[in-house]
Amino acid sequence: MNRSTLIQNLLDDPQKQFDILVIGGGATGLGIALDAVTRGYKTILFEQSDFAKGTSSRSTKLVHGGVRYMAQGDILLVIEALHERGLMLKNAPHLTANQEFIIPVYTFWDVFLYTVGLKFYDLLAGRLSMGKSYFINRSRALKRLPLLKSEGLKGGIVYHDGQFDDSRMAVALASACVENGGTVLNYFRVNTLLKDEKGKITGIKAKDIETEKEYSINSRLVINATGIFADEIHKMDDPSSKPTIRPSQGVHIVIDHSFLQSSSAIMIPKTDDGRVLFAIPWYGKVVVGTTDTPLETITLEPRALDEEIDFILNTAGNYLTNPPKREDLKCIFAGLRPLAANPDNPEATKEVSRRHKITLSRSGLLSIIGGKWTSYRRMAEETIDKGINAGIIENKKCITRNFSFNANDKPVESDRLRIYGNQASEIEMMIREQPVLGELIHQKLPYTKAEIVWICRNEMPRTLEDMLARRTRSLFLDARASAEAGPVVAELMAKELGFSSSWQESEISRFKNLAINYT
Ligand SMILES: Cc1cc2nc3c(=O)[nH]c(=O)nc-3n(C[C@H](O)[C@H](O)[C@H](O)COP(=O)(O)OP(=O)(O)OC[C@H]3O[C@@H](n4cnc5c(N)ncnc54)[C@H](O)[C@@H]3O)c2cc1C
Repeated sequence: MNRSTLIQNLLDDPQKQFDILVIGGGATGLGIALDAVTRGYKTILFEQSDFAKGTSSRSTKLVHGGVRYMAQGDILLVIEALHERGLMLKNAPHLTANQEFIIPVYTFWDVFLYTVGLKFYDLLAGRLSMGKSYFINRSRALKRLPLLKSEGLKGGIVYHDGQFDDSRMAVALASACVENGGTVLNYFRVNTLLKDEKGKITGIKAKDIETEKEYSINSRLVINATGIFADEIHKMDDPSSKPTIRPSQGVHIVIDHSFLQSSSAIMIPKTDDGRVLFAIPWYGKVVVGTTDTPLETITLEPRALDEEIDFILNTAGNYLTNPPKREDLKCIFAGLRPLAANPDNPEATKEVSRRHKITLSRSGLLSIIGGKWTSYRRMAEETIDKGINAGIIENKKCITRNFSFNANDKPVESDRLRIYGNQASEIEMMIREQPVLGELIHQKLPYTKAEIVWICRNEMPRTLEDMLARRTRSLFLDARASAEAGPVVAELMAKELGFSSSWQESEISRFKNLAINYT
């Protein structure tokens, strides 16, 4: 992916006429763009910030059917998501993993309830099951989770679900779009929808945030995949449109692995506010969350509320012998769920279905809101099919069910580099040729200088934050260390991407200020 080349190609295209234009570069938009381009449509996507800057880098990182949605009776959603879980693990094995979860149980009723419930979950997964669920007694549960509180413990229910790296999956989708002939541009904001004399949408106007240059692009189909920002695009289409999104904030904390000391994750099926809470090993740390707080304000940088952090710490503290405290937190991150508003009960967000909604406006704007990361592929297929069924684009067959991302087909010496798929060997080669590139960017972060250079050359990072938050997960793993790594990384980026020393200075200070919000 090379941003200048993609922009130059666009400038060289006299018609600037596309079949499909996607607004929004999160899981939903990138999934749609990949579906479209692999069907053979001429496709372009605009993201106002960086890919996955919004909700798509702030998830719990689960590829799952959703045990909780099953408990809520949303069985169809669970079956669909379990199917998609299977496809995602098969098609992107380098970015996903089979994760063992244990539900600690303290009453015999819970032993019965969760054993039966998870057997049903297994059943719904069918042949795409990731492993059978089963009960383990108290001593085996404590062997697998040595820091679990033992008082009153009856045992644990073991089950399997998928785990992934959300923002790297987004970058994999963007790369795959470009490899297949599509155009995906970050830091391009769509400001206006263009219409013909009959009021039908014919394209958009978008501004390159870096140069302030405005572009007019024509497209037969324009898709609004802007997540929590969907209503802004609806307003561009019809200023009198009613709100369709009810944002709900979910917060996670990241702590050292020493608080869990296990490769198994913990799933707490019923917190005081009726949610589930996960503590999941991730890149040598543990991600704990989440919350469900209805909010009024929509922003790209949501901030965790003190009560949300306290709630997670208190709940985790009820289960762990060495409870983490405020000062132990490596990172606090918040994300906004783009839930479809429930007109009958606008306050309720826990109960709002996570199912996506696709709508077509009178002017031809196709919008998709809600949904889950896990279901991105199916959501994309349904969206493009809707455009076909509405007669806006011609019929072409979806091929993403078996679309394989750059999975490792060559041996990778370092298992950690598996996230780069079959390109990991290029990074290994760089380190062999220039051993200094094998140095870590910070002693508390797992990333090497070679990865920074390779990412600059291949994955279109434009800011220090793109590199430290989403190409590498430094900010999420250890916010303080990531800020300390800023100068080294900014220097490498400036050299690779041709940025000035003033760019370095301003990026270091901007990132430092951002990282404070994650501590
Ligand atoms: C706390 C939390 C935990 C979650 N955990 C999981 C999980 O474990 N597993 C799972 O499957 N799902 C999970 N989800 C759900 C999943 O993360 C979301 O469904 C998904 O990321 C939404 O993606 P999106 O593309 O619709 O939205 P976003 O990722 O927010 O993308 C929308 C993009 O549109 C861009 N945009 C907006 N306006 C414009 C414009 N005018 N021009 C150009 N671009 C624009 C924004 O910058 C943004 O990047 C979780 C969600 C939350 C909040």
